[in-house]
Amino acid sequence: MQDTELLQQALALESPWQVDRCAFDSPSQRLEIHVTFNKGGRFPCPQCGQANCPAYDSQERTWRHLNFFQHITYLHVRTPRISCPHCGIKAAAVPWAHARSGFTLLLEKVAMTLAKHMPVLAIARFLQEHDTRLWRIISHYVEEARKREDFSQVSQIAVDETSSRRGHRYITLIVDSQAHRVLFATEGKDAGTIKAFKADLRAHHGKVKNIQEVCMDLSPAFREGTAKAFPRAKRTFDRYHTVRLVNEALDQVRRQEQKVHPELKGSRYLWLKNPGNLSGRQQEKLDQFRSQYLETAKAYQLKLAFQDLYLQTADDAVAYLRHWCAWAAGSGLEPFRKLTRTIHTHRRGILRWFHSKMTNGLLEGINSLVQAAKAKARGYRSIRNLIAMVYLIAGKLDFGWA
Ligand SMILES: [Zn+2]
Repeated sequence: MQDTELLQQALALESPWQVDRCAFDSPSQRLEIHVTFNKGGRFPCPQCGQANCPAYDSQERTWRHLNFFQHITYLHVRTPRISCPHCGIKAAAVPWAHARSGFTLLLEKVAMTLAKHMPVLAIARFLQEHDTRLWRIISHYVEEARKREDFSQVSQIAVDETSSRRGHRYITLIVDSQAHRVLFATEGKDAGTIKAFKADLRAHHGKVKNIQEVCMDLSPAFREGTAKAFPRAKRTFDRYHTVRLVNEALDQVRRQEQKVHPELKGSRYLWLKNPGNLSGRQQEKLDQFRSQYLETAKAYQLKLAFQDLYLQTADDAVAYLRHWCAWAAGSGLEPFRKLTRTIHTHRRGILRWFHSKMTNGLLEGINSLVQAAKAKARGYRSIRNLIAMVYLIAGKLDFGWA
């Protein structure tokens, strides 16, 4: 068997495509495979599908293919432009690559598989390619796969934001809480992000009226955005975000009080941690503080009581929250008086949890995937690339291969 014949079979090239010759360049460790087409070869029109179009002229194009062992391999191909009776002169499609890509399909598939597991910069080093070329592949496949997405069954969503890099810029994520996958990711964290999702939902056969439950934090942007875009959906305010607001009020009380009780300095951690997570010494210290009738200790009681809300039955929860609000409002602690107004105003969404049981903590799995996506996108500044990586890792997209 000749080397050209071997390569012909290995590349699975069929007539009229033919390996013409190959050259191995030792110093640069490159294998250059030259492919041509048989004289008189006929090709389908890439635009209308008309079969058996004759070649009009040809041009040489180059694709990078999978490595041949450790050697970088290029296909140099004499590709025809065909003459179609309907469409005129068109560049013929080739079976091993997408129209505008400089990589063969097999190499793209390898890059996509690696991208799920390795940072893109590491893949670039491994393949000896520029990372911008790899990002182009990732964006291309993600965009194509998203075009095929079907959101017609989506009925429960959770909204959350994540910082893109060092906390300066944000992306908003919309997650299907039942299928546990990211449906939509976009830059920003304002109400417009929800509006953008609504358009994306419709573009993927989803229906606004199908969306029955939404889970999110209490931020005005998401509240207003969802009320406008999904007026019929019932809203659950994520319990972890709500408890965080209570913790913030507690910490404000502590910071105010440490001006007269300097011994409170550095105790933030003791009050914010759940009692079960404290060491023996930390617990002792906390007990000591609590026995001093400090305002902070009072605030701490309120926080523990608020957390216990979520241990109530659905029937008891309404009265429990009402009592808690009355207690907090009358506590004389200004941060809690303010917080009570917020909680009272949004009590329906807080209590909705007892029926929907939705939380954004349910997205913890997805959040860890998003963190992984950030790590894999590190070293690249574009939010667009980060979003593509989020879809790749947490979107459960179907790329059309197993
Ligand atoms: Zn045509």
